Amino acid sequence: MKKILIANRGEIAVRIMKTAKKMGIQTVAVFSTADRNAPHVKMADEAVCIGEAPSSQSYLLGDKILEVAKQLGVDGIHPGYGFLSENAQFANKCEQNNITFIGPNSHAIEVMGNKLAAKETVKAYDIPMVPGLDEAITDIDKAKQVAAQIGFPILIKAAAGGGGKGMRIVENEKEFESQMQRAISEATNAFGDGSVFIEKYIGAPRHIEIQVLADKHGNIVHLFERECSIQRRHQKVVEEAPSAVLTPEIRQKMGAAAVQVAASCDYVGAGTVEFLLDENKNFYFLEMNTRLQVEHPVTEWITGLDLVEMQIRIADGEVLPFKQEDLKIQGHAMELRVYAEDPLNDFLPSVGHLDTYILPVGEGIRVDNGIEQGMDVPIYYDPMLAKLITYGKTREEAIQVMRQAIQNYQVEGISTTLPFGQFVMEHPAFKSGDFDTNFVKKYYHAELLKEQYQEEAQIAAYVALQQYLDDQKQLRLPN
Ligand code: ADP
Repeated sequence: MKKILIANRGEIAVRIMKTAKKMGIQTVAVFSTADRNAPHVKMADEAVCIGEAPSSQSYLLGDKILEVAKQLGVDGIHPGYGFLSENAQFANKCEQNNITFIGPNSHAIEVMGNKLAAKETVKAYDIPMVPGLDEAITDIDKAKQVAAQIGFPILIKAAAGGGGKGMRIVENEKEFESQMQRAISEATNAFGDGSVFIEKYIGAPRHIEIQVLADKHGNIVHLFERECSIQRRHQKVVEEAPSAVLTPEIRQKMGAAAVQVAASCDYVGAGTVEFLLDENKNFYFLEMNTRLQVEHPVTEWITGLDLVEMQIRIADGEVLPFKQEDLKIQGHAMELRVYAEDPLNDFLPSVGHLDTYILPVGEGIRVDNGIEQGMDVPIYYDPMLAKLITYGKTREEAIQVMRQAIQNYQVEGISTTLPFGQFVMEHPAFKSGDFDTNFVKKYYHAELLKEQYQEEAQIAAYVALQQYLDDQKQLRLPN
């Protein structure tokens, strides 16, 4: 591949371009009018404005992007994550136009893009699944019966779901219908598909996912796990690799299951198989994400691989250059998603002007960033500004480097999840490794952060007072 177009924006577009440049591949950026001065536009060899700020008028315009790709003689399109990355039709159109879609084939995207179709596909294999009704609810009485059999609470989920949308916990039979209607309307709004189904609600699960890589020649390996249990609104904020609780035996079993899931849909490229792990360390298949995952850097750090490079090589037809037994975990990596959100105000989006934006640097620190000081954070897109990733020989070291890096990350003008990240890194449950997806609900209150701020303000005031008194003493010294 000599030239690729990156059909994305922000940190992921920048990250993909870094690897392309390293591989000597020319890059084409596309951008909306809101992103005219964005780093991904400046970094690309060529850049084309494809429309107005709302993504439906720019980053989601597959045909327009294909037109640009053809005009500029592009060999491949990397979709990043979000936007067109899980759009089977777009993947198909790329191939029809003789442009390589850097991702899986459209069949795998289609099957795994629907949670029910995915369950149906992996059924033939020996993959443990969350108990439930593995079909869309059409008959409410039957659904209620199944719910009673499984036992409340249960979870109603959208078949087309993603980003934690269309998901409702049902505590008892009385709320069943009202919660179901809410899930249906949320799913219809978000995905244009209101099919919902039932799953047992696992009370205190950990979200653990396995990274897989598959080439076009039938070779599939897994690159171990990522722990993603620190979530708000069923969405990840802190991730790490490896998990603090997996034994080599469970890791091996989950890895083997993930490889089978990939095989079940003839997967090609980098993909992620998500599982829930219950308190007794039983694991259950949740879904497969058929794209590069936001949290891929933690896997890159513990395996020494560049996943974007692997994606491009695989798309180009190369054979995987290693076997499962060649892969080893080295050290520990942490990631904090730096969202433009206010952790003091229920993680609501915080938009505005970035007056100060200075990134931390140092050994064991990587920042995948998509924004610059002086820019306005646009309201049109996902509010993630950057990812702060740290590495250490041990988990403790990775946490320690993260604490320092958060302190040296300077942002003024908007609120971010950085202080929340500090809270997580300092929490005894997180430090001990004993936590699950209820961490935020169980331990986090905005008041705790406020107290921390007040304490810091008091210390700062005390230091300033000491300094003042010292200065006074010096000033009084006779010359
Ligand atoms: P989405 O595709 O919307 O991200 P997922 O199926 O990947 O939905 O689930 C997202 C998160 O929701 C999980 O990481 C977990 O925290 C929670 N979750 C999903 N299914 C269950 C379940 N059956 N029991 C308990 N929590 C669940």
